[in-house]
Amino acid sequence: MYAASESPTIRVNNLFKDNTHNVNQITAWVTKMPKGANLHLHLLGALYPKVLIKMACEKNLFFNPQNFRFSKVEFDSYLPAEDLNNPPYYTNFCNAITLRSNGACGRTPHDHFMYDCFTPIFDLIDFLNIDEVVEKVREQEKLAGVQYLEMYIPYTLFLKIDFESHNFDTTPKTRFIFEVSRTQSNDQFDEEVEACANLCSTHRLAKAITIVGAEDDPRALASFDHQLETLKSLWGKYKIPYCIHAGELTGEWVAPEDLSDHVFKVLQLPGVRRIGHAFDIVNEKKLDEIVKTFKAKDIAVEHCPISNRKIWQLPTDKLILGFLIKNGIPAVVGSDDPAVLAYEGITQDFVDIICKQEQPYVHVKMLVLNSITYSLLSGHEKEQETALLNHKFEEFEKSLLNPALVY
Ligand SMILES: [Zn+2]
Repeated sequence: MYAASESPTIRVNNLFKDNTHNVNQITAWVTKMPKGANLHLHLLGALYPKVLIKMACEKNLFFNPQNFRFSKVEFDSYLPAEDLNNPPYYTNFCNAITLRSNGACGRTPHDHFMYDCFTPIFDLIDFLNIDEVVEKVREQEKLAGVQYLEMYIPYTLFLKIDFESHNFDTTPKTRFIFEVSRTQSNDQFDEEVEACANLCSTHRLAKAITIVGAEDDPRALASFDHQLETLKSLWGKYKIPYCIHAGELTGEWVAPEDLSDHVFKVLQLPGVRRIGHAFDIVNEKKLDEIVKTFKAKDIAVEHCPISNRKIWQLPTDKLILGFLIKNGIPAVVGSDDPAVLAYEGITQDFVDIICKQEQPYVHVKMLVLNSITYSLLSGHEKEQETALLNHKFEEFEKSLLNPALVY
């Protein structure tokens, strides 16, 4: 029963609550729901096999069926890209660049993801038109109901974009965050991160820096403190905001001491606006202080439910969103690498949050509104985007509250 005197949000909340276990119904509603901003999406992880194959065919490329490396020249044993549409190459290509073969290949999703999938994608992108690639991802996000996008991108690819050929203020309004690998040498890291900071300080669309890669990689573990020191000194010089991937470790791969302080240390870094994943905070030594610091510094967690589930194989109670909400830590939702993870993207992340994590609609709406609040837009732009988002929610709630349901 839905009393007409209750606010539309509460009535929709009740509607969702009554249908929590009806995944098809929730999916249909969430598909129509406004998503606000996607603040955690990697360009390289958002390109589906079919999209890449189509683009490779348009460029008349050839591929090596052993390792799916590409070429403009037909070397011995290379095949035309059209053959990727046929078995067994289509299946093998999908298995090489996505997690869908997880299990069949005898490797863990973590190994598969971190070390294998991105190599052929990165290699192929070099032969494609980066402007078409970026627009394709924007189109996918628009279809999913995303109005604003902060896209993680390697700065070398960002430099290839022809900005004259885009309008990054059309839906989804798009800005960029540079991803710097944490598994390279200290010298390379320092050099790259400074180049990114420099670019952010001069380019209107380059907003922030993140560090990415396997957090449990031996070099990444050994370099962690050095990398934070570098970011700290660069903050003094450039004042570029940081959105750091951290707290992605589990006890399966690292010694307990490695689980104990990464998020705590990142929280001490000046300029941090958001932390990506951060699902292992409950293993950290200073959990009380971590909760207080998140709130005091108003830093948000980029929660990527399906990514956390698929790569790290975390069960629902380890996905941490319930903990964040209960403790008043701001959170936003991101889809990380939907194509590599072989799922449809942010709509499914919200379905997971509602159906599997059993979060009520009022919390989901709060997460969506947070996505604008914790974006890197200016105060004025946030006001505009929030007004638009509130309007979209009004329309969405109205569309769900069919008069037939009101008693
Ligand atoms: Zn990520």
